[in-house]
Amino acid sequence: MKRMLNEAAAFREEMIEGYVAAYGRYLRRVPDASGVAAIGAPAAGKVSVIVGGGSGHYPAFYGLVGAGLASAAVIGDVFTSPSGEQAYRVAKAVDCGAGLLFTFGNYSGDVMNFGMAETRLQAEGIETRTVLVTDDVLSAPPAEADRRRGIAGGFYVFKTAGASAARGDDLATVERLTRRANDRVRTVGVAFAGCTIPGQEEPLFTVEPDTMEVGLGIHGEPGVRTSALVPAREIARLLVDAILADAPPDAGSRAAILVNGLGSTKYEEMFVLYQGVVPLLAKAGIEPYEPQIGEFVTALDMAGCSLTLFWLDDELQPLHDATAVSPAYTRIGPDAGQAMTGRADTTTAVTTSGASHGAPAVNDAAAGGRAGEQARAALRRALAAVQEAEPELGRLDAAAGDGDHGLGMARGFRAAVRAIEGFEGTARESFTRAGTAFQDAAGGASGALVGGWLIALGGSLPSDDDGVDAAAMSTALATGLSMVQRLGQAEPGDKTMVDTLIPFGAGLEEAIGNGTGLSDAWQAALPAAEQGMRSTTEMVSKRGRASRLGERSRGLQDAGATSIFYVLRAFGEAFGE
Ligand code: ADP
Ligand code: MG
Repeated sequence: MKRMLNEAAAFREEMIEGYVAAYGRYLRRVPDASGVAAIGAPAAGKVSVIVGGGSGHYPAFYGLVGAGLASAAVIGDVFTSPSGEQAYRVAKAVDCGAGLLFTFGNYSGDVMNFGMAETRLQAEGIETRTVLVTDDVLSAPPAEADRRRGIAGGFYVFKTAGASAARGDDLATVERLTRRANDRVRTVGVAFAGCTIPGQEEPLFTVEPDTMEVGLGIHGEPGVRTSALVPAREIARLLVDAILADAPPDAGSRAAILVNGLGSTKYEEMFVLYQGVVPLLAKAGIEPYEPQIGEFVTALDMAGCSLTLFWLDDELQPLHDATAVSPAYTRIGPDAGQAMTGRADTTTAVTTSGASHGAPAVNDAAAGGRAGEQARAALRRALAAVQEAEPELGRLDAAAGDGDHGLGMARGFRAAVRAIEGFEGTARESFTRAGTAFQDAAGGASGALVGGWLIALGGSLPSDDDGVDAAAMSTALATGLSMVQRLGQAEPGDKTMVDTLIPFGAGLEEAIGNGTGLSDAWQAALPAAEQGMRSTTEMVSKRGRASRLGERSRGLQDAGATSIFYVLRAFGEAFGE
């Protein structure tokens, strides 16, 4: 087995150093401890969520440290629990008096070590709770479900805990919801080949040719039984059957789905598996919600995969949907505006998210006024503008990227406008709905970025339309820009939409500072945006697909910088109405 390795004994330390060096924009090293903490953690008045365990499972666990996810992770050696001392130090680093929640997989080493840390913290008067992840259906019978191991479904448990803490829930609530998530998540997996610890010669176990291990472990332990290797469609059936046989009471029909690769199984194979899973879920009356296929919990280079179902309900859905930003996982939710400005307004976060999945709430319509109408008019005008520019945007993107930018923007705005058809709520709610629909439909870099931009604009506006004035719009644009930059990491000069958005925001702020109203200020800022757009022609692309071209990207205006200019110009027409 060939490994990228210096001395085996230094592996963990060098791995953490490299990780922190790369992802300092999300997290930092906890001084004198084997762990990392999110930038901004602890947040005053908010519970801190601490995950952890041995390494070798990336992106579990430290890939999930970030905003709206885990506050910190304790990092052990490969497949080895971190010590109680390390768990204690990392937890102390994110304590701010609002309480601590440990959540990790149910392995005896982890239970003991984290347990020691918990006891010590409590003795110091720091309120601490623990929720164990026990999603591995085949690792113990239903009567002993609390003995089960934690595997890929832990992702949903950590996401729930992080979202609940981020919106400001108290410790008892964070604990209750995290437990509820664990109660409603189930995983079953298979393995085709064992894995080898860095520095060792032999794999931890081997799987004979023509066989597979059913009920895998994620620490190199073989499955609970060996079976003949069967085609993907039969694996799909095996996994679905085993999970459904163990569905929680009151499961309901909506479940988030995760197909998790164990380390050396290809995404393409997992897609094949998933196409076999789809009809089986449909037959069982289960509506898959935002399926995800990829690596969430790996076991070094083990081959194989697992299937997870997480049955959502009205309490868990908003937490699943909430914004989260970490090195390994990012989701922009309806609460993005708040998440970006750091305001904790639980009520709106929950209502907004509920509303985006169903009919508008009655009071939305009541709160909507002129600003709401203008917002919807702005979105309709933007749709017309990008549709008209679709061929041009396609050409610009084809020269530097993959040619889909015009298509994506048009598809996004069509979905956005559909989402506000017949809706009479506020500007805030209109942009939020539109952005959520845009993200869903548009795809590509610009789908996430422009959708996130719209969501952030909405989330930053006041919850009643009377407060939407020039200053509120200017703040919203600043929030939108920071969302785009946080998601895409683009700086001015990188040849992206940011090069249009920055001068526009600055121009708007300046005009408003001079006492100009929204419509005039918007017009006053457009020339700066246009100049920003044109300035991308001479730039070399540093972000996105086009960056692969290097010097060859010079000489052509950036597609995203162009489309966002058209959008801003269209918005301006609506604000002048
Ligand atoms: P994709 O590159 O996925 O095909 P699109 O073609 O829809 O996405 O969008 C390309 C545009 O997205 C680029 O012209 C650029 O303006 C913008 N873009 C790409 N990556 C980034 C980023 N990291 N930050 C800001 N804007 C970006
Ligand atoms: Mg493209």
